[in-house]
Amino acid sequence: MKTSETVSGKSSGERPETAEDFLSFLTEEIHTVIAASTDDDGLPVTCAIDIMDSDENSLYFLTAKGKGFYRRLIKHPFISLTGVWGKDTMSSTAVSVRGYVEETDDTILARLLEKNPYMLEIYPTEESRKALSAFRLYEGSGEFFDLSSKPIVRKNFSFDSCHTVREEFFITDRCTGCGKCLASCSQQCIDSSALPFCIHNENCLMCGMCSEVCTGKAVIRRKTS
Ligand code: SF4
Ligand code: SF4
Repeated sequence: MKTSETVSGKSSGERPETAEDFLSFLTEEIHTVIAASTDDDGLPVTCAIDIMDSDENSLYFLTAKGKGFYRRLIKHPFISLTGVWGKDTMSSTAVSVRGYVEETDDTILARLLEKNPYMLEIYPTEESRKALSAFRLYEGSGEFFDLSSKPIVRKNFSFDSCHTVREEFFITDRCTGCGKCLASCSQQCIDSSALPFCIHNENCLMCGMCSEVCTGKAVIRRKTS
């Protein structure tokens, strides 16, 4: 995994904002991720892979055809992955993505090898590289989570015609303005300037404490798209 001294500015000096930015950040900065595929019993199996390229609609990686990971991708073509960037927990940024995968052609494989020449040390001969196959992850969605910011920053994104579905806490009209939730919120991300109070979801840790302390049951958990 690539490392860096600072976290808040990333190497580019800016926080990624768009789906393409998040996919590029995963590729260029994080690079090595943990990916979960599904075995024949429907159970998750994790392994470390390198994200070797991206565009606005896809992530690209490769694997060897003899590996169990390759067989799982062919039989159950959907994966979930997470990469973490940062030297410790409080300076870390994580990007998680899930989506469909498909095997691609030798043109893509050649591009991935050209862009990631360290693979030629692992597979040094043309004959040995015949074991490799390139995959594309598409129709995906993901979450960016930056724990190095105060308050934290959490963003959902999607790409290649997949809809973004975000889980969030939401304050309904039942809110009386009693203020109990304000004291329970570690991120101070509840706006109390008007009724009902309002949660800034980009800064919400999803701890659920506002919902726990709200005796009037004004805080609900919901999915939005
Ligand atoms: S605890 Fe519930 S009712 Fe009280 S201010 Fe917060 S959301 Fe509104
Ligand atoms: S879920 Fe936690 S972080 Fe989010 S608004 Fe409620 S108390 Fe604050």
